[in-house]
Amino acid sequence: RTAHPRLPAHLKTSIPTGSNYTRIKRDLRGLGLNTVCEEARCPNIGTCWGGGAAADGEDAGKRTATATIMLMGSTCTRACRFCSVSTSRAPPPLDPDEPAHTAEAIARWGLGYIVLTSVDRDDLADSGAAHFAQTIASIKRTSPAILVEALTGDFNGVTAHIDRVARAGLDVYAHNLETVERLTPTVRDRRAKYRQSLAVLERAREAGAAVTKTSLMLGVGEEEKEVIQTMRDALSAGISILTLGQYMQPTKRHMKVTRYVAPAEFDHYKREADAMGFLYVASGPLVRSSYRAGEMFVENVLR
Ligand code: SF4
Ligand code: SF4
Repeated sequence: RTAHPRLPAHLKTSIPTGSNYTRIKRDLRGLGLNTVCEEARCPNIGTCWGGGAAADGEDAGKRTATATIMLMGSTCTRACRFCSVSTSRAPPPLDPDEPAHTAEAIARWGLGYIVLTSVDRDDLADSGAAHFAQTIASIKRTSPAILVEALTGDFNGVTAHIDRVARAGLDVYAHNLETVERLTPTVRDRRAKYRQSLAVLERAREAGAAVTKTSLMLGVGEEEKEVIQTMRDALSAGISILTLGQYMQPTKRHMKVTRYVAPAEFDHYKREADAMGFLYVASGPLVRSSYRAGEMFVENVLR
Protein backbone atom coordinates (compact mmCIF):
# COMPACT_ATOMS: atom_id res chain seq x y z
CA ARG A 1 0.00 0.00 0.00
CA THR A 2 1.42 3.38 -0.88
CA ALA A 3 1.93 5.97 1.80
CA HIS A 4 -0.34 8.96 1.74
CA PRO A 5 1.57 12.14 0.93
CA ARG A 6 0.91 14.85 3.53
CA LEU A 7 -1.14 17.88 2.60
CA PRO A 8 1.26 20.76 1.95
CA ALA A 9 0.58 24.25 3.30
CA HIS A 10 -0.11 25.72 -0.16
CA LEU A 11 -3.31 23.67 -0.35
CA LYS A 12 -4.82 25.05 2.83
CA THR A 13 -7.20 27.96 2.28
CA SER A 14 -9.00 30.44 4.50
CA ILE A 15 -12.74 30.98 5.01
CA PRO A 16 -14.08 33.27 2.29
CA THR A 17 -15.23 36.82 3.01
CA GLY A 18 -16.08 39.83 0.83
CA SER A 19 -19.36 41.51 -0.01
CA ASN A 20 -19.98 39.81 -3.36
CA TYR A 21 -19.40 36.38 -1.86
CA THR A 22 -21.79 37.10 1.02
CA ARG A 23 -24.48 38.43 -1.30
CA ILE A 24 -24.32 35.43 -3.63
CA LYS A 25 -24.45 33.07 -0.70
CA ARG A 26 -27.59 34.84 0.57
CA ASP A 27 -29.25 34.98 -2.88
CA LEU A 28 -28.62 31.30 -3.49
CA ARG A 29 -30.76 30.12 -0.61
CA GLY A 30 -34.09 30.90 -2.24
CA LEU A 31 -33.15 29.86 -5.76
CA GLY A 32 -33.02 26.10 -5.49
CA LEU A 33 -29.85 25.86 -7.57
CA ASN A 34 -27.12 23.36 -6.84
CA THR A 35 -23.68 24.79 -7.28
CA VAL A 36 -20.67 22.56 -7.67
CA CYS A 37 -18.82 25.27 -5.75
CA GLU A 38 -20.76 24.45 -2.58
CA GLU A 39 -21.38 20.75 -3.12
CA ALA A 40 -17.72 20.04 -3.75
CA ARG A 41 -16.72 22.46 -0.99
CA CYS A 42 -14.42 24.06 -3.52
CA PRO A 43 -11.60 26.00 -1.87
CA ASN A 44 -11.86 28.79 -4.46
CA ILE A 45 -15.38 29.85 -3.61
CA GLY A 46 -14.37 33.20 -2.12
CA THR A 47 -12.21 34.07 -5.12
CA CYS A 48 -14.67 32.91 -7.79
CA TRP A 49 -17.85 34.28 -6.26
CA GLY A 50 -16.06 37.49 -5.38
CA GLY A 51 -14.92 37.81 -9.01
CA GLY A 52 -11.78 39.69 -8.04
CA ALA A 53 -13.90 42.36 -6.35
CA ALA A 54 -11.31 42.96 -3.67
CA ALA A 55 -8.89 44.36 -6.23
CA ASP A 56 -11.25 46.16 -8.59
CA GLY A 57 -14.27 47.23 -6.55
CA GLU A 58 -17.66 45.60 -6.24
CA ASP A 59 -18.98 46.42 -9.72
CA ALA A 60 -16.04 44.77 -11.41
CA GLY A 61 -16.58 41.82 -9.11
CA LYS A 62 -20.16 41.39 -10.27
CA ARG A 63 -19.10 41.42 -13.90
CA THR A 64 -16.62 38.62 -13.40
CA ALA A 65 -18.09 36.64 -10.49
CA THR A 66 -18.14 32.96 -11.51
CA ALA A 67 -20.10 29.97 -10.29
CA THR A 68 -20.61 26.43 -11.55
CA ILE A 69 -24.03 24.81 -11.73
CA MET A 70 -24.69 21.11 -12.15
CA LEU A 71 -27.52 20.16 -14.51
CA MET A 72 -29.43 16.92 -15.09
CA GLY A 73 -29.45 15.70 -11.52
CA SER A 74 -26.83 14.42 -9.12
CA THR A 75 -26.48 10.82 -10.33
CA CYS A 76 -24.07 9.97 -13.15
CA THR A 77 -24.11 6.95 -15.44
CA ARG A 78 -20.31 6.85 -15.31
CA ALA A 79 -17.86 6.18 -12.52
CA CYS A 80 -14.58 8.04 -12.88
CA ARG A 81 -12.13 7.05 -10.16
CA PHE A 82 -11.45 10.61 -9.03
CA CYS A 83 -15.05 11.79 -8.83
CA SER A 84 -17.37 11.74 -5.82
CA VAL A 85 -20.66 11.99 -7.73
CA SER A 86 -22.86 8.91 -7.20
CA THR A 87 -23.39 6.42 -10.04
CA SER A 88 -26.38 4.54 -11.42
CA ARG A 89 -27.25 2.91 -14.73
CA ALA A 90 -30.71 4.48 -14.55
CA PRO A 91 -30.71 7.92 -12.90
CA PRO A 92 -34.06 9.72 -12.36
CA PRO A 93 -35.58 11.36 -15.47
CA LEU A 94 -34.68 14.92 -16.43
CA ASP A 95 -36.68 17.81 -15.00
CA PRO A 96 -38.18 19.45 -18.11
CA ASP A 97 -38.48 22.77 -16.23
CA GLU A 98 -34.80 22.87 -15.33
CA PRO A 99 -33.67 24.99 -18.32
CA ALA A 100 -36.25 27.73 -17.61
CA HIS A 101 -35.82 27.63 -13.83
CA THR A 102 -32.06 27.81 -14.10
CA ALA A 103 -32.31 30.84 -16.39
CA GLU A 104 -34.73 32.60 -14.02
CA ALA A 105 -32.56 31.95 -11.02
CA ILE A 106 -29.41 33.12 -12.78
CA ALA A 107 -31.11 36.32 -13.93
CA ARG A 108 -31.79 37.24 -10.30
CA TRP A 109 -28.31 36.36 -9.20
CA GLY A 110 -25.42 38.81 -9.40
CA LEU A 111 -23.05 36.84 -11.59
CA GLY A 112 -21.03 37.67 -14.67
CA TYR A 113 -19.96 34.21 -15.80
CA ILE A 114 -21.75 30.94 -15.36
CA VAL A 115 -20.31 27.50 -15.92
CA LEU A 116 -22.94 24.91 -16.70
CA THR A 117 -21.86 21.37 -16.20
CA SER A 118 -23.66 18.08 -15.78
CA VAL A 119 -23.39 14.48 -14.86
CA ASP A 120 -23.01 12.15 -17.85
CA ARG A 121 -26.34 10.75 -19.01
CA ASP A 122 -25.52 7.77 -21.19
CA ASP A 123 -29.05 6.51 -20.41
CA LEU A 124 -30.64 9.26 -22.56
CA ALA A 125 -30.92 8.94 -26.33
CA ASP A 126 -29.05 12.23 -26.90
CA SER A 127 -26.96 12.04 -23.68
CA GLY A 128 -28.79 15.17 -22.55
CA ALA A 129 -27.54 17.41 -25.39
CA ALA A 130 -30.95 19.01 -26.07
CA HIS A 131 -31.48 19.76 -22.37
CA PHE A 132 -28.02 21.34 -22.14
CA ALA A 133 -28.65 23.41 -25.26
CA GLN A 134 -32.07 24.59 -24.00
CA THR A 135 -30.53 25.74 -20.74
CA ILE A 136 -27.85 27.77 -22.53
CA ALA A 137 -30.43 29.34 -24.85
CA SER A 138 -32.78 30.19 -21.95
CA ILE A 139 -30.00 31.90 -20.01
CA LYS A 140 -28.92 33.93 -23.03
CA ARG A 141 -32.52 34.96 -23.70
CA THR A 142 -33.13 36.16 -20.14
CA SER A 143 -29.64 37.52 -19.41
CA PRO A 144 -27.79 38.31 -22.64
CA ALA A 145 -24.88 39.92 -20.78
CA ILE A 146 -24.00 36.82 -18.79
CA LEU A 147 -21.13 34.82 -20.24
CA VAL A 148 -21.88 31.11 -20.45
CA GLU A 149 -19.40 28.27 -20.46
CA ALA A 150 -20.69 24.75 -21.09
CA LEU A 151 -18.52 22.07 -19.52
CA THR A 152 -19.88 18.92 -21.11
CA GLY A 153 -19.28 15.21 -21.18
CA ASP A 154 -18.16 13.54 -24.40
CA PHE A 155 -21.66 12.74 -25.77
CA ASN A 156 -20.02 9.47 -26.79
CA GLY A 157 -18.41 11.44 -29.59
CA VAL A 158 -21.70 11.89 -31.51
CA THR A 159 -21.20 15.01 -33.62
CA ALA A 160 -24.91 15.95 -33.84
CA HIS A 161 -25.03 16.21 -30.03
CA ILE A 162 -21.82 18.21 -29.79
CA ASP A 163 -23.09 20.54 -32.54
CA ARG A 164 -26.38 21.08 -30.75
CA VAL A 165 -24.63 22.39 -27.65
CA ALA A 166 -21.90 24.26 -29.51
CA ARG A 167 -24.53 26.21 -31.48
CA ALA A 168 -26.81 27.05 -28.54
CA GLY A 169 -25.26 30.47 -27.95
CA LEU A 170 -22.46 29.71 -25.50
CA ASP A 171 -19.24 31.69 -25.10
CA VAL A 172 -16.91 28.84 -24.17
CA TYR A 173 -17.17 25.11 -24.93
CA ALA A 174 -15.24 23.09 -22.36
CA HIS A 175 -14.61 19.39 -22.00
CA ASN A 176 -11.96 17.99 -19.71
CA LEU A 177 -9.23 15.60 -20.76
CA GLU A 178 -8.54 15.22 -17.00
CA THR A 179 -5.27 13.36 -17.50
CA VAL A 180 -2.63 12.25 -20.02
CA GLU A 181 -3.36 9.58 -22.63
CA ARG A 182 -1.64 6.67 -20.84
CA LEU A 183 -3.57 7.18 -17.61
CA THR A 184 -6.98 7.84 -19.15
CA PRO A 185 -8.24 4.22 -18.86
CA THR A 186 -7.39 4.02 -15.16
CA VAL A 187 -8.42 7.53 -14.12
CA ARG A 188 -11.60 8.12 -16.11
CA ASP A 189 -14.61 5.86 -16.66
CA ARG A 190 -13.81 3.14 -19.21
CA ARG A 191 -16.18 4.74 -21.74
CA ALA A 192 -14.10 7.92 -21.77
CA LYS A 193 -11.34 7.96 -24.40
CA TYR A 194 -8.50 10.43 -24.70
CA ARG A 195 -8.68 10.69 -28.51
CA GLN A 196 -12.44 10.93 -28.43
CA SER A 197 -12.29 13.80 -25.95
CA LEU A 198 -9.85 15.66 -28.21
CA ALA A 199 -12.21 15.01 -31.12
CA VAL A 200 -15.15 16.43 -29.13
CA LEU A 201 -13.31 19.71 -28.66
CA GLU A 202 -12.15 19.80 -32.25
CA ARG A 203 -15.72 19.25 -33.41
CA ALA A 204 -17.06 21.97 -31.09
CA ARG A 205 -14.72 24.44 -32.84
CA GLU A 206 -15.83 23.28 -36.26
CA ALA A 207 -19.44 23.68 -35.17
CA GLY A 208 -18.78 27.32 -34.36
CA ALA A 209 -17.63 27.52 -30.73
CA ALA A 210 -15.09 30.36 -30.88
CA VAL A 211 -13.32 29.36 -27.68
CA THR A 212 -12.72 25.84 -26.42
CA LYS A 213 -11.15 24.83 -23.17
CA THR A 214 -9.80 21.78 -21.33
CA SER A 215 -8.41 20.88 -17.92
CA LEU A 216 -5.95 18.45 -16.44
CA MET A 217 -5.49 17.19 -12.89
CA LEU A 218 -1.90 16.63 -11.86
CA GLY A 219 -0.64 14.31 -9.15
CA VAL A 220 -2.20 11.11 -10.51
CA GLY A 221 0.99 9.51 -11.85
CA GLU A 222 1.68 11.50 -14.99
CA GLU A 223 5.20 12.30 -16.18
CA GLU A 224 6.37 15.72 -17.30
CA LYS A 225 6.85 14.72 -20.93
CA GLU A 226 3.32 13.32 -21.00
CA VAL A 227 1.89 16.59 -19.71
CA ILE A 228 3.78 18.50 -22.40
CA GLN A 229 2.54 16.06 -25.05
CA THR A 230 -1.04 16.51 -23.82
CA MET A 231 -0.64 20.28 -24.16
CA ARG A 232 0.56 19.81 -27.74
CA ASP A 233 -2.38 17.52 -28.52
CA ALA A 234 -4.79 20.07 -27.03
CA LEU A 235 -3.30 22.89 -29.08
CA SER A 236 -3.51 20.80 -32.26
CA ALA A 237 -7.20 20.25 -31.52
CA GLY A 238 -7.66 24.03 -31.53
CA ILE A 239 -8.11 24.39 -27.78
CA SER A 240 -7.33 27.90 -26.58
CA ILE A 241 -7.77 27.75 -22.80
CA LEU A 242 -5.96 25.31 -20.54
CA THR A 243 -6.16 24.83 -16.79
CA LEU A 244 -3.95 22.63 -14.63
CA GLY A 245 -4.64 21.84 -10.98
CA GLN A 246 -3.78 19.41 -8.21
CA TYR A 247 -5.92 16.27 -7.88
CA MET A 248 -7.40 15.92 -4.39
CA GLN A 249 -8.80 12.57 -3.26
CA PRO A 250 -12.45 13.17 -2.33
CA THR A 251 -12.85 10.12 -0.06
CA LYS A 252 -10.81 7.09 0.99
CA ARG A 253 -12.60 4.96 -1.61
CA HIS A 254 -11.32 7.10 -4.46
CA MET A 255 -8.09 7.02 -6.40
CA LYS A 256 -5.07 8.07 -4.35
CA VAL A 257 -3.03 11.18 -4.89
CA THR A 258 0.34 10.04 -6.25
CA ARG A 259 2.06 13.24 -5.24
CA TYR A 260 1.50 16.89 -4.49
CA VAL A 261 2.93 18.93 -7.31
CA ALA A 262 4.91 21.95 -6.12
CA PRO A 263 3.72 25.46 -7.03
CA ALA A 264 6.98 26.03 -8.94
CA GLU A 265 6.20 23.04 -11.16
CA PHE A 266 2.76 24.43 -11.91
CA ASP A 267 4.48 27.71 -12.86
CA HIS A 268 6.82 25.78 -15.14
CA TYR A 269 3.85 24.19 -16.96
CA LYS A 270 2.20 27.57 -17.30
CA ARG A 271 5.33 29.02 -18.92
CA GLU A 272 5.55 26.06 -21.30
CA ALA A 273 1.88 26.29 -22.27
CA ASP A 274 2.00 30.08 -22.67
CA ALA A 275 5.01 29.71 -24.96
CA MET A 276 3.17 27.11 -27.05
CA GLY A 277 0.48 29.66 -27.81
CA PHE A 278 -2.61 29.03 -25.68
CA LEU A 279 -4.83 32.08 -25.33
CA TYR A 280 -4.58 31.71 -21.59
CA VAL A 281 -3.47 29.19 -19.04
CA ALA A 282 -4.32 28.87 -15.37
CA SER A 283 -1.97 26.56 -13.52
CA GLY A 284 -1.65 26.10 -9.77
CA PRO A 285 -2.39 23.70 -6.93
CA LEU A 286 -5.89 25.06 -6.27
CA VAL A 287 -6.85 25.72 -9.87
CA ARG A 288 -10.03 23.96 -10.97
CA SER A 289 -11.54 23.93 -14.44
CA SER A 290 -13.76 26.91 -13.62
CA TYR A 291 -11.29 28.75 -11.38
CA ARG A 292 -11.78 32.53 -11.77
CA ALA A 293 -13.13 31.76 -15.24
CA GLY A 294 -15.05 35.04 -15.50
CA GLU A 295 -12.08 37.19 -14.57
CA MET A 296 -9.80 35.25 -16.91
CA PHE A 297 -12.21 35.50 -19.83
CA VAL A 298 -12.76 39.24 -19.43
CA GLU A 299 -9.02 39.89 -19.12
CA ASN A 300 -7.80 37.63 -21.89
CA VAL A 301 -10.56 37.11 -24.43
CA LEU A 302 -12.66 40.28 -24.34
CA ARG A 303 -9.81 42.75 -23.97
FE1 SF4 B 1 -16.99 27.15 -8.19
FE2 SF4 B 1 -15.31 26.27 -10.06
FE3 SF4 B 1 -14.74 28.48 -8.70
FE4 SF4 B 1 -14.64 26.13 -7.49
S1 SF4 B 1 -13.31 26.80 -9.15
S2 SF4 B 1 -15.59 28.00 -6.68
S3 SF4 B 1 -16.32 25.04 -8.48
S4 SF4 B 1 -16.49 28.21 -10.09
FE1 SF4 C 1 -17.92 12.41 -12.29
FE2 SF4 C 1 -18.20 13.46 -14.74
FE3 SF4 C 1 -17.00 11.08 -14.42
FE4 SF4 C 1 -19.63 11.36 -14.02
S1 SF4 C 1 -18.49 11.60 -15.97
S2 SF4 C 1 -18.22 10.22 -12.71
S3 SF4 C 1 -19.74 13.40 -13.10
S4 SF4 C 1 -16.25 13.09 -13.66
